[in-house]
Amino acid sequence: MVRLINYTLNPEIVIATAARLCYSSYDIGKIEEDFKDKDSGLEKARKLIRKVRGSGHESVLEHASFTFGVENISRSTSHQLVRHRIASYSQRSQRYVKETKPQYVTPDSISCNREFLEKYKKIISEIYSLYGYFIEKGVPPEDARYLLPNATETQIVFTMNARELLHFFRLRGCERAQWEIRRVAKEAFNLVYQIAPSIFKGAGPSCVRGACSEGEFSCKKPSEIRASWLKGERGDV
Ligand SMILES: Cc1cc2nc3c(=O)[nH]c(=O)nc-3n(C[C@H](O)[C@H](O)[C@H](O)COP(=O)(O)OP(=O)(O)OC[C@H]3O[C@@H](n4cnc5c(N)ncnc54)[C@H](O)[C@@H]3O)c2cc1C
Repeated sequence: MVRLINYTLNPEIVIATAARLCYSSYDIGKIEEDFKDKDSGLEKARKLIRKVRGSGHESVLEHASFTFGVENISRSTSHQLVRHRIASYSQRSQRYVKETKPQYVTPDSISCNREFLEKYKKIISEIYSLYGYFIEKGVPPEDARYLLPNATETQIVFTMNARELLHFFRLRGCERAQWEIRRVAKEAFNLVYQIAPSIFKGAGPSCVRGACSEGEFSCKKPSEIRASWLKGERGDV
């Protein structure tokens, strides 16, 4: 569902260079060269990133960005995604692209029950027939789409910097977030962790790093959640 399309080249070196600059009298070129040293540069960069993350100097994480392509998610989920403001989005338009055939997401809580599933499919099929009828009769797609359900599949490209991604993983990786956006967050995390482990180590909901922050709304299964995020760090997914 989630693909990593592109990202800042050498993200850990870029961030470490920015971080070191704040505390060093050396020129930027000299600092960068040091982190690019093929024997010890990357390890030094990772050590510094761990230090700045630990100290809360998170603005330096904004120098690396990651661009994802997300396919086959529902419009409900894309709406939740675009609430994250420190990001850029491009989404397939329902004004310009006709929804010619029914493509929609079915939650497990519906598909697990034959009767629910039949009713769900039937009503969605009726909606799409009426949509097709309206289009045929000349109603513009931008108006015909008023019929379409939240379940309608969409595709979206988004770009976030590393700081915002950590925030996104914290909120949307938590069991309190809905299953579909949780899946987007988890898949995005699995991809970026492999590229830049020092930036994303320990990412995810608060229980990955310590106590749950959700109080009475806690899912009360922190060890299970922690294990699933650590599995992503091991690349065991
Ligand atoms: C479990 C869950 C349930 C939710 N339920 C609802 C709901 O019922 N109704 C609803 O409307 N939304 C709901 N949301 C969405 C939520 O309110 C946020 O809009 C969304 O999670 C985006 O996160 P954010 O605002 O922290 O940060 P982002 O937009 O990702 O921004 C990152 C950070 O930048 C800072 N920032 C960004 N913009 C501003 C600003 N204008 N002023 C000051 N600081 C800023 C903040 O520190 C913010 O945390 C829910 C989210 C979750 C995770």
